[in-house]
Amino acid sequence: QNPVDRATPAAVSAAVEQGQTLPAPAAYRSYAAYQADGGYQLYQDCRSGHRSPEEVIALLESSGLRGLGGAGFPVGRKWRIVRAQPAPRLMAVNIDEGEPGTFKDRHYLERDPHRFLEGMLIAAWAVGIESIYIYLRDEYAGCRQILLRELQQLREAVPGPLPEIQLRRGAGAYICGEESAMIESIEGKRGMPRLRPPFVAQVGLFGRPTLEHNMESLYWVRDIVERGPDWFTGHGRRDRKGLRSFSVSGRVRKPGVHLAPAGISVRELIAEYCGGMAEGHEFYGYFPGGASGGILPASLGDLPLDFDTLTPYGCFIGSAAVVVFSTQDKARDLALNAMRFFAEESCGQCTPCRVGTAKAAALMAQPQWDRPLLEELAGAMSDASICGLGQAAANPLRCAMKYFPEEFR
Ligand code: SF4
Repeated sequence: QNPVDRATPAAVSAAVEQGQTLPAPAAYRSYAAYQADGGYQLYQDCRSGHRSPEEVIALLESSGLRGLGGAGFPVGRKWRIVRAQPAPRLMAVNIDEGEPGTFKDRHYLERDPHRFLEGMLIAAWAVGIESIYIYLRDEYAGCRQILLRELQQLREAVPGPLPEIQLRRGAGAYICGEESAMIESIEGKRGMPRLRPPFVAQVGLFGRPTLEHNMESLYWVRDIVERGPDWFTGHGRRDRKGLRSFSVSGRVRKPGVHLAPAGISVRELIAEYCGGMAEGHEFYGYFPGGASGGILPASLGDLPLDFDTLTPYGCFIGSAAVVVFSTQDKARDLALNAMRFFAEESCGQCTPCRVGTAKAAALMAQPQWDRPLLEELAGAMSDASICGLGQAAANPLRCAMKYFPEEFR
């Protein structure tokens, strides 16, 4: 293990502020290597007028690329909406990556940071962004080190003025991954979600129109524009199009980030990408989208994993964090664990979530679940909470009762 991977965020910051040079956290593609491979040529083409913003936005629209942080809003359409707002426009990049089971952003940052940075600069150019705020999960001390170093390199090496880029540190709150709470946090306030409308595209950071993106959405921009939208849409199964970075964990032989076609099923993912189930484990169920995306049983292991397809089952793919569990686990224990997490992470702003998650966790800790009461509580939480945390917190609970009835007999 590299020393930076073990260093606390505070130790990394202190070392950087004192001007110390820390070893690179891992072997990653440097600026020189990225540039030698044609990196930043597209950005230069954009800035020199060889490409127009309209052309680049149209390519992204044709690719069908959607926001990969979880919400899945079409990327090209978002650029068009923010571009139509009055200047000055700002940009916020979300690398809070707090959804349990999700680690794809870290995976890409630790390997190819400039692919993301070039995508970010192209987005800023196309939308006419004045300043960029990168909001990084503070537990990612190694990624912080990489970004500090490579942003400096970028400023020195890329000719011509760049937008102002600030690297901001999160402070470990799950809710700050919610876009409006993140914006509050960047503004120096307590991270609590805002009521919408107005949407952040219109009134975001410091009251200005804001382009908010998950890091991975920007990571794919260069490849899609250079290789063309057909390259991206050429992947996919069961009529779904594109690629998805699945963060797979749990009872599989080969956990990790697996880049796979959209629409793949969890059974295929386990067999083709994860080397099968771990020794001695039999497939029993899975979280298709982190803690908030619900739980599905093995009998629904052939569903296409993609945006929208799991909605009828009370689930969603979100950031594509797939947690596989086996007959040695119990869905009710996993649902309780998730509910405790949400109770801990609720920002406390609205009663259905603040009280509902705590009350549900206490009820779920009982040997016998009061299912009618839990159903009623789940309904109040999903109907009346302000943001996605409270609205989705009951998904694992509802799924455990619906799909694993044998555990409650
Ligand atoms: Fe805060 Fe929960 Fe309400 Fe969201 S739903 S605003 S996390 S209390």
